[in-house]
Amino acid sequence: MDKLNQVLLRDEIRVGANLDGWLAHGGGEGLGRALQDPGAIIAEIAAADLRGMGGAGFPTHRKWTPVAAAPEGDKYIICNGNEDEPGTFKDRFLLEHTPHQVIEGALIAALATRANHVVLYVNPHEQQALAVTRDAVQQWREHPLFTAIEQAIGKPLSLCVLPSSGLYIGGEETAVIASVEGGFPFPRRKPPFPAQQGVHGAPTIVNNTETLAHVPGILRHGAQWYRDLGIGHAAGTKLYSLSGDVLRPGLYELPMGTSLAALVFEYGGGMLQDKEFKAVFTGGPSNTLLTKRELDVALDFDSVRQRRSRLGTGAMIVVSEGTSIVRKVAEYVSFFAQGSCGQCPPCKGGTFQLMRLLNRLDTGRGVRADLDSLENLCRILPGSGRCGLIDGAVTVVESSLDQFRDEYEALLT
Ligand code: SF4
Repeated sequence: MDKLNQVLLRDEIRVGANLDGWLAHGGGEGLGRALQDPGAIIAEIAAADLRGMGGAGFPTHRKWTPVAAAPEGDKYIICNGNEDEPGTFKDRFLLEHTPHQVIEGALIAALATRANHVVLYVNPHEQQALAVTRDAVQQWREHPLFTAIEQAIGKPLSLCVLPSSGLYIGGEETAVIASVEGGFPFPRRKPPFPAQQGVHGAPTIVNNTETLAHVPGILRHGAQWYRDLGIGHAAGTKLYSLSGDVLRPGLYELPMGTSLAALVFEYGGGMLQDKEFKAVFTGGPSNTLLTKRELDVALDFDSVRQRRSRLGTGAMIVVSEGTSIVRKVAEYVSFFAQGSCGQCPPCKGGTFQLMRLLNRLDTGRGVRADLDSLENLCRILPGSGRCGLIDGAVTVVESSLDQFRDEYEALLT
């Protein structure tokens, strides 16, 4: 059964900022149902098993529940559209082509939690997404459904678009909060968690753009409908950003739990120039590499975790035989080194040293002591940072050493 473009990317709802176009194709129905019984929204989201699509796969209802239970006062819903990691291009697409789906999801979240601030936090490098989202937001503010939400929550609702810092680290949950407060996006220690103390101390939910885009459909069709879209134990659909050495790179919406082999060979058309599949950098690319042995893995949060990797954002950067893993890892670690915010000296210095060693090895100037230093850094750096950046950088290095050590050895002088 071809389930391509089944929910989020249906052709008829790619209406850009046109709110009437969205409403003419089932948009607003989920919000209408939510307005009938706001107290039942979170239970529906929980029953659907909607997970956070920005990386961690955390159950969405568990973010919403404590905010709904918090005492009355300011509460924030932030739609995280910072999306700056290599190989991920799903949120930009949603905001450019179907922003109302995302905004309606954020408004339903506000209704469920009685939040009075909804912020769409959009990467300023994505000018088209930013412009379309601004236009879409303006149309919602003038629509009767917006007034109905204000009446339901019993207070004025602010809905705005805020350009993010455009920095990779600016997408980290607590960095988003710092940025929305007007500061530099420095990640903060948790606890307190955003639901307890977020923007200006108020209970706050930071949800990924894709996560919120799934919400209107769940409210419109019901949790069971959403669960049935997935394969096996996995619920719903997932946007996979497929890139690298495949014939048909692009954005694919497929049932959650589609196998890696199906994504690469069936939908992606197979490998470029009939080369052999070698590996995939997943979701970031700050996770354990998936190799030929993992082609059968179901691409859902739990199944990928069982293979000691993570689905992350759903980004899949495919590499073929003949591509140097050391070079790719050096490129990605260089990205992380440049993205480190510098708050934690082990992260700033550690990612720089990883980058330096990888570049030496990649360019044939490395000696065995460099390889030993690389391994030593992988032992001492994890857990030394305030956020996950340093751990992600180490994971991809460690994974490449585990699985492609022969390539490192072959480069030693
Ligand atoms: Fe910044 Fe790195 Fe510390 Fe994260 S781990 S807060 S990126 S210095």
